Amino acid sequence: MRKRLALSHLPTPIQRPQRLAEALGVDLHVKRDDMTAGAEAGNKIRKLEYLLAAAREERADCVITCGGLQSNHARATALLCASLGLRSVLFLRTADPAAGAPLEGNVLLDRLAGAEIRLISPEVYRTRDVVMAEAAAEIRAEGGRPYVIPEGGSNGLGALGYVRAMEEIRKQLDLGLAGGKPFDVIVHACGSGGTAAGAALGAARYDVAGEVRAMAVCDDRETFARITRAIMDDARALEPRLGAPAQLVIDDSARGPAYAVSTPEQRARILKVARLSGLVLDPVYTGKAFSGLWDMAERGELSGKRVLFLHTGGLPGLLAQSAAFAELF
Ligand SMILES: *Cc1c(COP(=O)(O)O)cnc(C)c1O
Repeated sequence: MRKRLALSHLPTPIQRPQRLAEALGVDLHVKRDDMTAGAEAGNKIRKLEYLLAAAREERADCVITCGGLQSNHARATALLCASLGLRSVLFLRTADPAAGAPLEGNVLLDRLAGAEIRLISPEVYRTRDVVMAEAAAEIRAEGGRPYVIPEGGSNGLGALGYVRAMEEIRKQLDLGLAGGKPFDVIVHACGSGGTAAGAALGAARYDVAGEVRAMAVCDDRETFARITRAIMDDARALEPRLGAPAQLVIDDSARGPAYAVSTPEQRARILKVARLSGLVLDPVYTGKAFSGLWDMAERGELSGKRVLFLHTGGLPGLLAQSAAFAELF
């Protein structure tokens, strides 16, 4: 077993939002991974439990990672580094680095945590692994001990966090929770592929679901198929006990106009979900994924199926987009 730091509050509950389930005509359950912790909550903390354990083992004193400007992963890393007494350096992608970053949503939390933010253009971001390796070399030359975490914490080691999440769901089913039987399908938002890879491996290993439906929020199916395959290979190399994954379907039908840009219909559904269930989705990840689930329900693809929506968090990203929601009120 790989070393893991216990940083999250587990197990997260599995809930049945009754009125929402009835409105959609779906046997719907929700795994509340938006409740894995306090301000650092969401899906990233499960990956960071393994990644930061590795950083600790290497006696790192500084963590370098990257993401979009409103990255939930960068925010979780910044806050967890503060709690562990580590320095954090975040490379954040923004259209105009010279314009700076508004102090809102995840960026506000990054700053509170004392992270060093380095804004980079989308063009530079494409070479992020080189940029982070160069920063690591500089820090090492100054006597520091950096540890680099890839985008989204999505490598084989990080994906083990979602293998473990599936084991956690298996234990909940064994206790008779959520109907006690495996799910037919798990639906979740896919942004860098680590959650999908870990969930697909873990769902098969622990007989939790026959299918994992990863709703792409940015890139297309082919891209994520390639990325998730590589992460799964990487994870299996670390944990040879992992066998074949559950069926992993990458669905890019709900990705919307661009990363972090949602459609008016997706935003209207975020409002409906809040009013029917009290669940708060975000326009970057979970709102798109749930909108995809909603489309599947409307097409009749979920009738008679046991469905688990994995709520991966993302609340600060919603709070940074208030202007996009003004039209709804
Ligand atoms: C990062 C993120 C995802 C996507 O997870 P990946 O493992 O990066 O694919 C989904 N939802 C939220 C809220 C996230 O922050």
